[in-house]
Amino acid sequence: MKSVKLEEKIVIVLISILLLIVIPLVFSTLFFNKFQIKDFDSVLEIAYQSEITFLGGTVCYGNAFSCFDVEVHSEGEVDSFKIGTYQMKYTYMFDGKILEKMQTVNVVDKTPPVLEIEDREYTYCKNGKVPKYSYKAVDNLDGDITDKVSSSIIDGHIVFSVTDSSGNTTTIEKQAMLKDEEAPTILLKGEEKMFLSLDEAYNEPGVSAYDNCDGEISQKVVVDGKVDEKKPGTYILTYTVMDESGNMAHISRSVVVEDKKIVGRVIYLTFDDGPSAYTTKLLDILKKYNAKATFFVTNQSLSYGYDNVILRAYQEGHTIGLHSYSHNYAIYQSEQAYFDDLYKIQEKVKNITGHTSKIIRFPGGSSNTISRQYDGGSKIMSKLTKLVLEKGFRYYDWNIVSGDAGQTESSSEIISNVTKEFGKFSTPIVLQHDIKSFSVDAVEGILSYGVQNGYRFEAITMNTPLIQHRVNN
Ligand code: ZN
Repeated sequence: MKSVKLEEKIVIVLISILLLIVIPLVFSTLFFNKFQIKDFDSVLEIAYQSEITFLGGTVCYGNAFSCFDVEVHSEGEVDSFKIGTYQMKYTYMFDGKILEKMQTVNVVDKTPPVLEIEDREYTYCKNGKVPKYSYKAVDNLDGDITDKVSSSIIDGHIVFSVTDSSGNTTTIEKQAMLKDEEAPTILLKGEEKMFLSLDEAYNEPGVSAYDNCDGEISQKVVVDGKVDEKKPGTYILTYTVMDESGNMAHISRSVVVEDKKIVGRVIYLTFDDGPSAYTTKLLDILKKYNAKATFFVTNQSLSYGYDNVILRAYQEGHTIGLHSYSHNYAIYQSEQAYFDDLYKIQEKVKNITGHTSKIIRFPGGSSNTISRQYDGGSKIMSKLTKLVLEKGFRYYDWNIVSGDAGQTESSSEIISNVTKEFGKFSTPIVLQHDIKSFSVDAVEGILSYGVQNGYRFEAITMNTPLIQHRVNN
């Protein structure tokens, strides 16, 4: 008997499978009636705040050729305005037949935060740090999440990214340049102006410095200047710091060392607003008493033609200080306006005397409030009093008022106003105006009283202790 080949056996088995399994399966699928369910998910995710339609899928009862609508009951409720997990139960009914299906519905936040970033030039630091930029991130669920914005440098771009509490992320890329032109911020610890008694030790309060790229750089601050506690005078300390990219910042502090035991035997007469037609006479009187004074000069029209008087005053050992070129309070509109005017009078004085003066008096004094009418609320005097020091100037106010600025026109009253203050200050600085004849006429009386009472009259120098008012603007 011939044996059955292996191939024939396999064919027989396949045919049997076809007859016994596949054909009944196809038949029953096509012709057998049952609940037909489509688009039903037993676990479903829906978006927070979305509109909810029927979640129970598409169901009918029948076979591949005809299918009838069924009755549906659902139990449970989903609130899409509340994040959470909800259970639903659906009951489908047709002609006494029942199908129950359970469903888990997760209401989840799928809306990424809105990240708003302005259009501007973006830069980043050598060390990969991103400077502080302004942006805003608001999420539908979390609210303001600006503090969660992170930034990083990827391939010449700054990538700003924020992720809400549900894990949705918004990313914005901005093209950026490797550049750091921002100077560090340097701040004084302790007072900007310090007073020491003679021989009292100076303890450096220090400064703090911060850079947009390098962070805390207080350790890199270099101090220029030194306080000699054994010698009365005003010492200026200048603190300088440089960031990794070479941007520098400076700040200054003045330290006044005063010998409080000594009442000043030196009187500093100062004359503002000139020169004028009366200045020559004033120089003659000063010469007669071998007295030196300080002239805070202007270029007002009444000073025209008296350049030679400025030169004479300088040559006779008086100090030519800078008051203002225009003496118009509009110079307090801005830092620029102030310094334009100051450099003009400095230049004029240099052209006459050959010397660059750095001794100044603000029009109206550093305590003036008239600058408020011009500076648009910018507190210009607070800025200028610092800036002039940083630029190497020294400004002087006064502590003895002669009264010639409107209070009196009597020379004898001026003499008495001034001389009664002698002996009250360690550094007495008198304010007069050499554009007023009655004030110039008072000078001889002041000098003769002073000389008889053992006072000397000297000109202000860069070493004279700074007498400065409280800044009011
Ligand atoms: Zn003035």
